[in-house]
Amino acid sequence: MMGYAAGILPEAFDLVIASKLSMCDSSRADLASYEALGGAVLNETQGEAMAPDAFSKCLDCIDKSKVTPIKPSPNRSGVLPSPLQNILGGDLEKVKWKPLGRGVKQAIISTSGKASARLLYIPAGQAVPDHGHQGTELTLVIQGAFHDEVDRFGPGDLEVANEDLEHQPIAEEGEACICLAATDAPLRFNEFIPRLLQPLFKI
Ligand code: ZN
Repeated sequence: MMGYAAGILPEAFDLVIASKLSMCDSSRADLASYEALGGAVLNETQGEAMAPDAFSKCLDCIDKSKVTPIKPSPNRSGVLPSPLQNILGGDLEKVKWKPLGRGVKQAIISTSGKASARLLYIPAGQAVPDHGHQGTELTLVIQGAFHDEVDRFGPGDLEVANEDLEHQPIAEEGEACICLAATDAPLRFNEFIPRLLQPLFKI
């Protein structure tokens, strides 16, 4: 959340955090305090003499980068949080699912930078293959719920996994679980078949 406030996360992680902020009032309050903290740190910092054209050069750089910050918005109709709907141009009907087997589906969301984002659809009661991580994985529950070795995660909950965690998320009975996941390194699958298919599915 601090990384998001400071604007230093890859776009795929920004998308997950902005989606969580869109779903969760208390997270937006947390963000406001991190932004205030960042402002206070800047205020306390010793001033530095700048070249006369520094401001216009800075604006030029922002123009050239063509990066539009992903902003949260609590207003939504439909299932997906607003930042996702803005990227897809609509709700679930715009998602182009690809089957991963056992009823599990994914849709890769196009983002810039080194991390990647995907929507996952896990049928009620279904497990995804157990795996470890070679970097950070953020998983935000949008609909339904899943549990793993760590905890239970319901709508608006975010699981942060890293190299230390091996887990097998299992969707709860009842409703299919839809998650938004972002990773900055490939997952490490323990079973042979998922490992074989991994390059194909870009996980
Ligand atoms: Zn994982």
